[in-house]
Amino acid sequence: MSDTNSHTDATVDSHTNADPGTEATAAGEPLVSVEGLRKYYANEQSIVDRVLGNEPESVKAVDGVSFEVAEGETLGLVGESGCGKSTTGETVLRLREATEGRITFDGENLLEMSDGELTQFRKRAQIVFQDPFSSLDPRMTAGDIITEGLKIHGVADQAERRETARDLLERVGLSADQIDRYPHEFSGGQRQRIGIARALALDPEFVVLDEPVSALDVSVQAQILNLLDDLQDEFGLTYLFIAHNLSVVRHICDRVAVMYLGKIVETGPVDEIFADPAHPYTKALLASVPRVSTEAREEDFATLHGDVPSPRNPPTGCRFHTRCPEARAACRESAPPDYAVNDRRRAKCFRNDADHAYWDSEPIEENARTAGD
Ligand code: SF4
Repeated sequence: MSDTNSHTDATVDSHTNADPGTEATAAGEPLVSVEGLRKYYANEQSIVDRVLGNEPESVKAVDGVSFEVAEGETLGLVGESGCGKSTTGETVLRLREATEGRITFDGENLLEMSDGELTQFRKRAQIVFQDPFSSLDPRMTAGDIITEGLKIHGVADQAERRETARDLLERVGLSADQIDRYPHEFSGGQRQRIGIARALALDPEFVVLDEPVSALDVSVQAQILNLLDDLQDEFGLTYLFIAHNLSVVRHICDRVAVMYLGKIVETGPVDEIFADPAHPYTKALLASVPRVSTEAREEDFATLHGDVPSPRNPPTGCRFHTRCPEARAACRESAPPDYAVNDRRRAKCFRNDADHAYWDSEPIEENARTAGD
């Protein structure tokens, strides 16, 4: 047990229902604060449900997530496909309506904003999408794409907007002369630069970067990451960086929040989490070797055995217990609370509590055996 119980000084936070994302941020006052965010999708009632009189179960895409992003900070939100990270980002921007929870932006409750206030918020918060091919309208020129937000918000006249587009093209590493070209005339990396320029046109403070490099070749990924890093300094931006690959997060984020099945299971400074992960799921992600080829990238989670359970009917107890190589019987019984690993880190795993019944219960043999295969 000694090798596995390395966080015996950890304490259970008094707010045991708090999410691991709520620990003190690294760089000052939070610009964005999210508390107990839930996003459920209602399902159609199946024939079986109708016959048995059962209510349809909703899909719990985001299930009680809390985190803060400090001004000027980059928070990475990481997890496997389908864990709820993109839904979280879109809900924080109110591109999707929250089922429950509280989202605060610069001290204002986002979920209670009037239409006028929401319009103002949309100028201050933007998004860069994953796919640079489908996210740009093929019938619009680069200049029109970049300045579409300015036009919608009635900012500047046409000549000024065109000048803004020329300037932004240069700032994202393209040429101002490319302003009248169409998306199909650009490479994938260049298209993503246009998507970034579009996000910057309204001079936002906060940008959600939703897997901004995962559709790009590895050689181009580094260029775009460097560009995002430079632009953050130049424009004074705060980022929520969504990724499935921890190695990408390492190079750009200050802190990281790891998501599994709709919940944040661990959070803390990137360097500390890479050096000593406190949650077995984070360990599994880190054990996934960064791959170079596309085929290999798809195997990034090969070290994790079993399928991700359905968010419609998540496992009892710890949601990770069906796949966790360190699971014990106690993990099936109750959900782990939020443990403070230190004053900068939190994790939802019983292993962080030396006195928990976890240590006296039996290992789940099946999990341990599968992990050793
Ligand atoms: S609480 Fe148990 S199942 Fe959950 S991550 Fe920790 S050891 Fe694994």
